[in-house]
Amino acid sequence: MKKTKVSPILTGTAQAFLLIQDGKFGLVDSGNRNTEKRILKAITSRGLKIKELGFIFLTHTHFDHAGNAAILKKLSGAPIIVHQSEADYLRNGFHPIPNGTNPLYKFIVFLGRHLANKKFSAFDATEPDELFESRFNLQSFGFDAQIIHTPGHTSGSSILITDRKAFVGDTVFNVMGIKYPLFANDEVQLLKSWQQLLDLDVDFYYPAHGKRIKKTEFIKALKKHGIM
Ligand SMILES: [Zn+2]
Repeated sequence: MKKTKVSPILTGTAQAFLLIQDGKFGLVDSGNRNTEKRILKAITSRGLKIKELGFIFLTHTHFDHAGNAAILKKLSGAPIIVHQSEADYLRNGFHPIPNGTNPLYKFIVFLGRHLANKKFSAFDATEPDELFESRFNLQSFGFDAQIIHTPGHTSGSSILITDRKAFVGDTVFNVMGIKYPLFANDEVQLLKSWQQLLDLDVDFYYPAHGKRIKKTEFIKALKKHGIM
């Protein structure tokens, strides 16, 4: 595996990641809309050119991850990679709020669905370029990394693995402790995906919300949740 430099970029409520490998670079997620300047700054401040962006991988198509996909694709010409089951959400610029995973969040989701303006979770629609089913190899873009489908939080939630690091999107949260997401479409699937994460030969997990997690800390969290 090639060495990969990781730069987290705060892009609203979630963070995106700039990954640099031997001068080639790509993005994991694109943040909330209207935060694209932060991403552009992260790229140019490292002496890189937006036109040379290699790929935009979306871990899933919630608004705080897909928000700048359209504008960044337009500015860079980079292909957008997303799981096939979320292609239409990207094309429509909208992904419905998932279910809550505990009573409080179930209630919040209930309120959200009934009261919130749909526009809140909308983003600029765009066309995906690379769709996949269970895996995608970034070697085709000259980047030493793998993408794996880990459904649960959403139907198409996926992670990127490179240099013993896994970029896990919302499959794991690290906000006030390591948690499984407060929102998930399919909790049974999500727990299977956590097991899949545990089986990976990596040292760190990088969630979109919160700090990176050491594998030993993740194992502790799995025990706490009664998964191991
Ligand atoms: Zn999400």
